[in-house]
Amino acid sequence: MCIFCQIVKGEIPCYKIYEDDKVLAFLDIKPVNPGHTLVIPKKHFKTIEEINEDYLAYLIKVVKKIGNKLKNNLNVLGYNIQLNNDPVAGQEIAHLHFHVIPRLKNDNLKLFPQKSYNSGEAEEIVKKIIKD
Ligand code: 5GP
Ligand code: ZN
Repeated sequence: MCIFCQIVKGEIPCYKIYEDDKVLAFLDIKPVNPGHTLVIPKKHFKTIEEINEDYLAYLIKVVKKIGNKLKNNLNVLGYNIQLNNDPVAGQEIAHLHFHVIPRLKNDNLKLFPQKSYNSGEAEEIVKKIIKD
């Protein structure tokens, strides 16, 4: 059983922020900033492709609730919502989870180093992405 399933079962402790019958939100053990929260479905899905749309919609509603809580109750100006989908994207725990990461002024986080497209490259990639 994965670590997050063990947390859902109460076999591993966590600092709980929110819980209902479908979703659990708890503090990330190694926060990017204080209040960094993980929002997970209680049922085990590895990636976003595995969860059905209704369950995902519900999960996202809770993500929004947590974001509001962080913004209203901690002294933060905003937050990042991040989903690392698959190991190549940095997913270490193979149980779908959204990170809600409070952002502080001058916290110096730079999440995405960006590149540029060469001439014609953007058109090519769009064609590939939108094909059925
Ligand atoms: P990922 O890289 O899979 O998107 O993120 C996994 C996150 O889970 C990491 O930020 C890591 O700090 C957090 N984490 C790993 N093990 C535990 C744990 O046992 N308890 C809690 N609360 N967080 C954990
Ligand atoms: Zn799991």
